[in-house]
Amino acid sequence: MRIVIKVGTSTLTHPTGRLNIRHVEELCKVLSDVKNAGHEVILVSSGAIGMGVGKLNLSARPDDMAGKQAAAAVGQCELMYVYDKLFSEFNHTVAQILLTGEDLRDGTRHANFTNTLRRLLELGALPVINENDSVSTDEIAVGDNDTLSALVAASVGSDLLIVMTDIDGLYTADPRKDPNARLIPEVREITAGMLAGAGGGGSALSTGGMATKLSAAALCMKAGVDMLIVNGAAPAVIYDVLEGKPAGTRFIGRKDGGAR
Ligand code: GLU
Repeated sequence: MRIVIKVGTSTLTHPTGRLNIRHVEELCKVLSDVKNAGHEVILVSSGAIGMGVGKLNLSARPDDMAGKQAAAAVGQCELMYVYDKLFSEFNHTVAQILLTGEDLRDGTRHANFTNTLRRLLELGALPVINENDSVSTDEIAVGDNDTLSALVAASVGSDLLIVMTDIDGLYTADPRKDPNARLIPEVREITAGMLAGAGGGGSALSTGGMATKLSAAALCMKAGVDMLIVNGAAPAVIYDVLEGKPAGTRFIGRKDGGAR
């Protein structure tokens, strides 16, 4: 299988912006094992800005564009250093690809990106993709990595997108506030009620939230790709997904081929 895994800042870092060593070590171990089992893995990783905040000892995520871009420039190096180090322990080679929205909208640039990605997979490398935050402004950005990961998954005909976040999946209501909230195991259609319940997004260090995950799911479903939302606190959940066991929320891609 060709699998895109999206991992968010809330999984990769503590609220301080410092690396969550336990989560990241486990994630790299599980993904290495999944690759060893013969699957192709593409990682879409956030965390550049968050880790830049930690590395620069800033008290909070910067509000201004230049501050965010500077934090991303520092944090992206740190992020790739960590991935390179941890994946190397399991004999896997990482490759960094940084994109903006324009790279995906422009036909030639998009083709160059997918050609490079396919070649990296042929070479057995593990592509790690992020938005090129240090040069992208609001006008040219994709804006959030949930959408970016869905666009990547649709572009290279992946079988599955697994979005790892800080909650077990999509619930009927916010489980942090409503004790009657139930996990929704499978979604075939995104309803107005789900969109209304998704609310605003993100934590102090990240961009997304349930709203961007639902729009990513809509993109995937249309392209015929299944998408899952699972809890990144226990990366071994990926084994359950691959073994067909219940895990998180699965959005079912249109099997008539969609817009793929
Ligand atoms: N690209 C941003 C980063 O690496 C995160 C965007 C997102 O979390 O959606 O910090």
